Amino acid sequence: MSLRLPKTDLFIDGQWTPPSTGKSFDVVNPATEEVIAKVASAGAADVDRAVAAARKALEEGPWAKMAAKDRAKLIWKLGELLLKYNEGDVAVLETAHNGKPIFESQYVDIPHSAECLFYFAGWATKIHGETIPTAPDAFTYTLREPLGVVGAITPWNFPLMLGIWKVAPALAAGNTIVWKPASLTPLTALRFAEISQEAGLPPGVLNVLTGFGLEVGGAMVRHPGIDKIAFTGETKTGVQLMKDAADSLKRVTLELGGKSPNIVLADADLEAAVRGATNGIFYGKGEVCAAGSRLLVEEKIHDEFMAKLVDRVAKLVPADPMHPKTRLGALVSKKQMETVLSYVEAGKKEGAKLVAGGKRFDVGGKGYFVKPTVFDGVANDMRIAREEIFGPVLATIPFKDAEDAAAKANATVYGLAAAVWTKDVKKAHTIARRLKAGTVWVNAYNLYDNALPFGGYKQSGFGRECGASAIEHYTQLKSVWVSLT
Ligand code: NAD
Repeated sequence: MSLRLPKTDLFIDGQWTPPSTGKSFDVVNPATEEVIAKVASAGAADVDRAVAAARKALEEGPWAKMAAKDRAKLIWKLGELLLKYNEGDVAVLETAHNGKPIFESQYVDIPHSAECLFYFAGWATKIHGETIPTAPDAFTYTLREPLGVVGAITPWNFPLMLGIWKVAPALAAGNTIVWKPASLTPLTALRFAEISQEAGLPPGVLNVLTGFGLEVGGAMVRHPGIDKIAFTGETKTGVQLMKDAADSLKRVTLELGGKSPNIVLADADLEAAVRGATNGIFYGKGEVCAAGSRLLVEEKIHDEFMAKLVDRVAKLVPADPMHPKTRLGALVSKKQMETVLSYVEAGKKEGAKLVAGGKRFDVGGKGYFVKPTVFDGVANDMRIAREEIFGPVLATIPFKDAEDAAAKANATVYGLAAAVWTKDVKKAHTIARRLKAGTVWVNAYNLYDNALPFGGYKQSGFGRECGASAIEHYTQLKSVWVSLT
């Protein structure tokens, strides 16, 4: 598998164009510590240009006049091309800038992104208003119209997929887009811009600006020409973003952080729950917003469960992300690795028991690898139980009964996801109702479908991506009153 780089200028109005700043920044492969690309660093003037192009494409030109069924075909084509290039270069690019195992990029993240385009291609022809009877001398109905120019701001953990979660419904609803990917992982967004050209998406419908949070993201959030910001990232960035968006009364949807509980009751299928606990935290190196980073285990089975878990974790060894058998890759950056290791130290200091990992790992003398780490005996008020670590670190918290589990699970500012493992159907549904989280899995973890809404409760944000609810976040309703007198 060889690395084929996409174009590295800005993609504005269907053209590749150098940034107004004249600057570029390095993209580093976190597994090799090598600079793999130099990418254009956009500035506020480039945001102006991209917004103007998106506005023009929205109001005049082929996109503005396109029938919904033709929009659908274009979005479908994007999905087909993405699948076509998945194995060739997109999956390799995703792994190269993020450090995730190629297995995840090639068989999960990129196919899921293509599926998202297929799913929302289907929606393009099914977005409609209603006729609403009001008075005998009136014909009254609603039109569901695009919101306008959408700004998509995305993080580095699922660089392509979290962009597509925004681009696909936005296009289905007839909007135009300015997308700013995370500066650590801009390559697959640029590759997707190339794919959009090949698919024949009209100029200005999708614009990609690479650059930094404050310069580009901040300028987008404050820009009066952008109607909505769809953001995924840290909770503290989301808080700032809401304040910055307030002046132009911009719509925002926020997909933020998490500290999700994964609850194992004593009657669970323990083998399945051990697999679920491992996958729940170590998929994507734990750099997953919905990661099951708090493992809640019923006291009665605690010792047996932990022995099985530690045994399984011992077999999970970080390795070259490009190797097809690798299941644990490199953390996205040196800084992220240092943050994760500082949480390991905090956990030890606060009295949690380190039962696996806890150290940097050497893969051929290079790369930001951390061994899969498990803490036991964690109390809910320790930092490793309260704060999002965003790495391969699991905090195990024992509990007495289902009541205690639900209370401990909900004792967090976050509410993105949760899971419960049990064979008792009544307990499963009762706990599922009590958990304050946007997604609850029963006897499963980390399962997603483009038809199912995903988003947060509490400080994990608001708005939903995927599913029919996403369409509502990319449209607005107009009521039309026709007098028949
Ligand atoms: P981040 O908040 O640092 O950055 C996210 C994006 O926002 C980046 O593109 C960044 O450049 C940009 N940005 C930064 N400051 C900005 C500002 N002031 N104005 C506008 N844009 C700005 O997040 P990250 O470190 O890239 O990603 C990790 C975080 O994302 C974690 O907290 C994780 O939980 C969260 N996340 C949430 C979900 C979800 O669906 N809820 C999914 C994935 C990741």
